Order: sequence, then structure tokens, then C-alpha cells
Amino acid sequence: MTTTIPSPYSDLIIGTAPPNRRRDTIDVFDPSCGKPLSSVPDATVEDALAAVDAAALAFGSWRARSPRERAEVLQRCWELMNERKDEIATLISSENGKTLSDALGEVAYAAEFFRWYAEEAVRATGQLGSSPNGANQIMVSYEPIGVAVLVTPWNFPAAMATRKIAPALAAGCPVVLKPASETPLTSYLIARICADAGVPDGVVNVVTTSRSGEVVRAMLHDPRVRALSFTGSTEVGRALLHEAADTVLKTSMELGGNAPFIVLDDAVPDEVIDGLMIAKMRNGGQACTAANRIYVHRSLVEKISGLLADRFSALTIGPGTDPATECGPLINDRAVDKIDSLVESAVAAGARILTGGERPPREGSFYAPTVLVDVPPQADIVREEIFGPIASIIAFDSDEEVIRAANDTHLGLAAYVYTADLRRGLRMAGELEAGMVAVNRGLLSDPAAPFGGVKESGLGREGGTEGMLEFMESKYIATSW
Ligand code: NAP
Repeated sequence: MTTTIPSPYSDLIIGTAPPNRRRDTIDVFDPSCGKPLSSVPDATVEDALAAVDAAALAFGSWRARSPRERAEVLQRCWELMNERKDEIATLISSENGKTLSDALGEVAYAAEFFRWYAEEAVRATGQLGSSPNGANQIMVSYEPIGVAVLVTPWNFPAAMATRKIAPALAAGCPVVLKPASETPLTSYLIARICADAGVPDGVVNVVTTSRSGEVVRAMLHDPRVRALSFTGSTEVGRALLHEAADTVLKTSMELGGNAPFIVLDDAVPDEVIDGLMIAKMRNGGQACTAANRIYVHRSLVEKISGLLADRFSALTIGPGTDPATECGPLINDRAVDKIDSLVESAVAAGARILTGGERPPREGSFYAPTVLVDVPPQADIVREEIFGPIASIIAFDSDEEVIRAANDTHLGLAAYVYTADLRRGLRMAGELEAGMVAVNRGLLSDPAAPFGGVKESGLGREGGTEGMLEFMESKYIATSW
């Protein structure tokens, strides 16, 4: 394959593009300084369909492998990711900007999907029953759906890929992964690790492109593709659902969030702050599960906002690859502009800045960790997904009021509740319209748990037992003994 990819990343690039064809490339930038890091192939529709060819060709032999054989390959992927964790984390930090400790956390989480689905691969069961009138037996088995197209975002370039690749491979499906243009290098490294672990050619394919709309549309209209697993914004997810309707694809949609973080009057402030630092600041706030609206009981607002401002203002800002950094850059300058305008409009609507509220005077896509109080409930910063290091604090007076406010959104991915009374927390968890609720915890992602949202935050679940079923179809056979 002819590319202009400079060392040290050039040997990562594997794919199925026709050899010896001159191709365009996409530059990949380091968001901490804006300088190019590397470049990757800019695939055309023809290249993407070549990847679908390779996947379709590999399907028969991969599904024919025994579940135990597939499990052993996935187990090896987990081992290799752990052996190479520092290399992967450095690459994630370089192209995404997150801190090394966040990147190492992501690698551990990403690798766990291979281990979990190695264990699940051998547990795909069926059912046997009899029809109510006794006329026949009902046998149900689960089969791999076929070639799956995976489209992933830039905020967790390793975990969003393995959360899809591992269950698909466990189910017996080959995949074509289309990663975000900002963070393609991590995907190539993961594909390389899969190959090194023994995943056969054609089972994991990576297509990087600057024409995502056109390229993904072409793949979704190829009749050999039978599933689409997408993680990204609700806006793009909605458009892809329309596309997927044409060929009636099975879709799994992990979309945007607007998580409420609720602090009840009996919560322990130090525990709340520890939880908030994770729920708000993991990945510099660029997580779909990030605490977006921090509802604090009026009696605790002064205490919580003061403690949080102290922690935020003490954070060391810098490039993610510097081990001393506690808050890295945002993904690009567009993200900084968006956050800046959200903060400005919140202040214009009456919010007060306790710390931050500005771009630090340095090169790169940085925004200072910011705490806002007195945020009016109707401000844009409350209605929109912030995706940055901004804690937006809103006071409330009663449980009923805060539940109503928390549910007043078209999104419903994650929610958080802090209280000293577990019974009260669990009751509130039942009333919150979200796919996932953390009670007295700032982190809820777990490969063994079903991850996903309600309302316009998505369809389907990743992780847990449910994650593998997204890549399988049931087959019912009627018979009489
Ligand atoms: P995005 O703009 O929706 O992009 C996601 C992926 O879709 C990228 O690979 C992108 O490629 C591709 N894409 C963009 N337009 C497309 C089109 N018309 N057709 C096909 N593919 C297209 O989202 P993002 O900015 O990368 O990620 C942030 C969003 O993801 C946030 O809303 C966040 O909440 C959500 N997210 C959700 C979860 C979850 O599990 N629910 C997890 C992480 C992130 P290009 O990069 O080439 O444009």
C-alpha cells in the first residue's frame, strides 16, 4: 500500500486497500500544540467496499471456528493489550490529548472487553420449549448476524473500538471499523494487536476516511453488511438510522448524553467532590457519561462549589503525554470555541464564574477547568452536552423538583446521585430517565454491565451479556419429535 505515513506510525497501518495505488492521506494532529503527528490513508468508497469484500470473505471461516477457539484468540488480544499498555496509552494521549493516567485507565477498560467476551464467547446458549397447544417443539439458537460496520468517536479511541470488536468477534462476525478522523492511529494499533493475537486476515478491517458520510453510506447499502454499531453524537446517529432503514440493518446506537449529577442534602461533601472529579473531569470532561448538570441541594451549594473550585484551580494543565499533566487539551479548537461560547452565554444569563472561564495563554486547544454557580436552568449550558472541563452548578430545594429537572431532556444516558441514605438513592435511581445510574459513585462504566441510553441517547446495549446479542440473530426451528 502506498502512503506517506512517517515513522514511527507507518508500520501500524494495515488494511485492505488495493496495493500500489497512490492515495490521499488525512493528517492527524497533536491537540496539545496543533502540530501534525502523522497521517493515515484517506479511503474512498472503493476502498471501503474492498474492506467489506475482505470481511465477507472471512465470515464463513470465522463463524465456523469453535466458540472456544474464538475465545482463545480474544484472550490473547487481552494479554497483548496489557503487555503493550504503555505504548497504546502514549499513542492515545498523543492523538487525543487526554492525560497519561486517563489513557492508561482507558487501555485497561478497553482490554477488559476482550477478556469479558472471551468468557462470553463460550456461553452463547439457545432455548428449547414446547408450543402452548403441544403441537411442536420450539428450538431457538443464536447465530452471528454477518459483516458489521463499526463507527466510533474520538473521545475513547481504544475502548469504543474494543467495546464493539470484542463482542462481534465473539459472536462470529467480521467487522469493518471506521474510527473518527481525529484519532485513527489507536484503531490501527488495535487492529495490529488483533492480527498479532491470531485474528485471521479480513476479520478486523480499518477504514479511515475524510468522507465519512459517503463512505459509511456505501457500506450500509452493501447487502453483505447486516449490522451497524455506532457511537457518536445523536445528530449523526439519527442520520445513520435513516440510512440503515433502506437495507433494514440491525443497529446499535450509543449516542449523546446530558447527565445530571444530583447531590442531596444529606450527602458527604468530600465524597461528592471525589466522585465529581471523576464524573466531570475524566478525559477533561469529554465523555458521554460526563456530569453535565450538577444539581446541588441549596444547603450545600456554597460548600460544594467552593471545594470544587479549589480542586479545579489546582489542576496542572499541559500536554497529555507529560506525566505531570492533570488536565489535557480538548480535541481541537472548534471544541474550545464551542465551550467558550457556552460559558459566555451562561454568564450573560446570570451565572457566576468561581474559577476558570477562559483559554489559558498557551498554544494548543486548551480551556481552563471552570466552575460556574447560579446557572439558570434554561441556559444553553444546561440544555446542551458541554464536552469539556466546565462544572455547571444549579441549586434545587426538593427531591421532586430535582427529578423533574433531571428528566427534562430528550437525552437519557447516565445519571448520578449522592446521598447518605441508600434507600433514598435507589428510589431516585428508579425515577431517573437514564439507561445507567450511579449511586454514590463517580464512575459506572464496566465491561460486565449493559452500557447504553434511553430516549435519544440510543438503542441497544454494549458490554455485559447484551453486547454480544447485538451481533447475533435468533433462529427458531419448529419441529415435532
Ligand atoms: P460524531 O461527530 O457523531 O462522530 C462519530 C463518528 O461518526 C466519527 O467516526 C465520525 O467520523 C463519524 N461520522 C460523522 N458524520 C458522519 C456521517 N454523516 N456518516 C457516517 N459517519 C459519520 O461524534 P464525535 O464528535 O466523534 O463524538 C462525540 C459524541 O459521541 C458526543 O455526543 C458523545 O456523547 C458521543 N459518545 C457517546 C458514547 C456512548 O456510549 N453513548 C460514547 C462516546 C461518545 P469523522 O470523525 O470522520 O467525522
